[in-house]
Amino acid sequence: MPLNADLHCHSSHSDGVLGAAALVRRAAGNGVELLALTDHDELAGLAEARAEARRLGVRFVDGVEISVSWRDTTIHVVGLALDANDPALVAGLAGIREGRVARARRISDALAQVGFEGALERAAHFAGEGGLIGRTHFARVLVERKAAADVRGVFDHYLASGKPGYVAHQWAGLQEALAWIRGAGGLAVLAHPGRYRLSTRARARLLGEFKDCGGAAIEVVSGSHTEEHARKFARLARRFGLLGSRGSDFHAPGESRCEIGRVGALPEDIVPVWEAFA
Ligand code: AMP
Ligand code: MN
Ligand code: MN
Ligand code: MN
Repeated sequence: MPLNADLHCHSSHSDGVLGAAALVRRAAGNGVELLALTDHDELAGLAEARAEARRLGVRFVDGVEISVSWRDTTIHVVGLALDANDPALVAGLAGIREGRVARARRISDALAQVGFEGALERAAHFAGEGGLIGRTHFARVLVERKAAADVRGVFDHYLASGKPGYVAHQWAGLQEALAWIRGAGGLAVLAHPGRYRLSTRARARLLGEFKDCGGAAIEVVSGSHTEEHARKFARLARRFGLLGSRGSDFHAPGESRCEIGRVGALPEDIVPVWEAFA
């Protein structure tokens, strides 16, 4: 049996719903043997997750999922096995989270234009005290107001790029994000590459730049990927000399497409990113 590694998931410190310890308990219950918590632009859940993983005997590495603007596309870069106290990483993420506050106001204004007043207050309530606000919190507000049947439906109609509640935003630079991850001793992983709407040429350019900036791996197997995506990104991992990662991208019971620890296996000839962990 291959190692059950899940190196991409979210707690309530970003847009997941379970607290960090509860998330780790759920992972352990599903047979996860190696876990990384990768909240969006946030490290606050790691200490609690790490402690719970130790208590349960689950191997754990610190992680994060950094929001990056690459040309006109928002992409996500996961950092794994990093030092969560690294000052440049901590400061860089604080800057992104500050940008999220202003963005949330703009999202709320845009939603008010199409008839949803006061979404920011409710989204902030869902995000919790001091919690980071993302589009998923707004999506949960609109589900509550019956704008769509589920979070995915709200994204399709209101929050995806080009929809009325979407606002453009400048995130971290690719080189910058990789410098933070590598400076903190971590490995950089391109998250769910199947999700980006890029031409074949632009995708190859992204992978080339990612590799040149010191990127280590791409998510081959992801809760956001089909089996066809997994085959395609396995080929691209081989071509670009990148390791492969595996993660459910779990956010919430009943909401996420993929349960934590229940994602497919990496193709056998792909070298897993965890072989590069210290
Ligand atoms: P943000 O970083 O605030 O722009 O929010 C991005 C998050 O929104 C992702 O991490 C997903 O959790 C969620 N998301 C994005 N697109 C979709 C979608 N089509 N369906 C459901 N959730 C989505
Ligand atoms: Mn998310
Ligand atoms: Mn993501
Ligand atoms: Mn994610």
